Amino acid sequence: MTTALLEIQGLSVQYGRNMALKDFSLRVGAGQLIAVLGANGAGKSSLLKTIAGLVRPASGSLALEGRDLHRASASERVARGIALVPEGRWILVSMSVHENLLMGAWCRKGAVPAGELEAIYARFPNLASRRHMPAAVLSGGEQQMLAIGRALLSRPRLLLLDEPSLGLSPLLVQQLFTLIRDLNQEGLSMILVEQNIRKALQVAHRVHVLELGREVAHGEPQSLMASSALHEAYLGRARPAP
Ligand code: ATP
Repeated sequence: MTTALLEIQGLSVQYGRNMALKDFSLRVGAGQLIAVLGANGAGKSSLLKTIAGLVRPASGSLALEGRDLHRASASERVARGIALVPEGRWILVSMSVHENLLMGAWCRKGAVPAGELEAIYARFPNLASRRHMPAAVLSGGEQQMLAIGRALLSRPRLLLLDEPSLGLSPLLVQQLFTLIRDLNQEGLSMILVEQNIRKALQVAHRVHVLELGREVAHGEPQSLMASSALHEAYLGRARPAP
């Protein structure tokens, strides 16, 4: 078997006595899009934060292209190609759109080539026309695009998306998932945490389902759609369309 881009084995995450994630394993191959699904409190954000180096695991191993990540700081992980787009976006609304975007390149050496910035603006025309305005003027959907654009400026090989569609209108959710599919088809590997099960199943190559920190199912989207595990993990909250 070829070396995975990301290999996680037996990962557990604990906050005090609260076990957020228990003995979780996952493999992301080059170019793959992996969806992690589950209801609130399932441990999805804890997983992404642990991969990004923001939370230290209680046990288990993480390796990027076969190299252990255990001792790598969050900034070293960004430099090695892991970028997190956090839930809530973490946009600095008093700073300009352009300044927010540039923050994605903070761990890179040297100035960002103008062509690279223009490529981001070409992908997100709504950001281009407001580049010198405070990010506060952006809608929720535009702020989500800014958070993704900022992550792209770190030149990631693995993009971690935490609930990107949260709070967006159906039209913007559609645009967001078109972007996610495009980025993946351009070769970017991703782990997508989503509450929009139907959309996540449409773009994912593999799916892991968590319930209260434990994996209750994993497999290809088609097989999970047919199983009851996914529905039970949400207790009927948001059943995927047939
Ligand atoms: P949500 O969609 O609500 O964010 P999630 O699946 O992302 O849910 P996590 O945020 O990873 O779940 O939370 C998993 C468990 O860990 C929950 O019981 C949560 O209350 C707890 N938890 C998360 N962060 C912390 C923290 N910083 N300190 C203590 N407990 C935490």
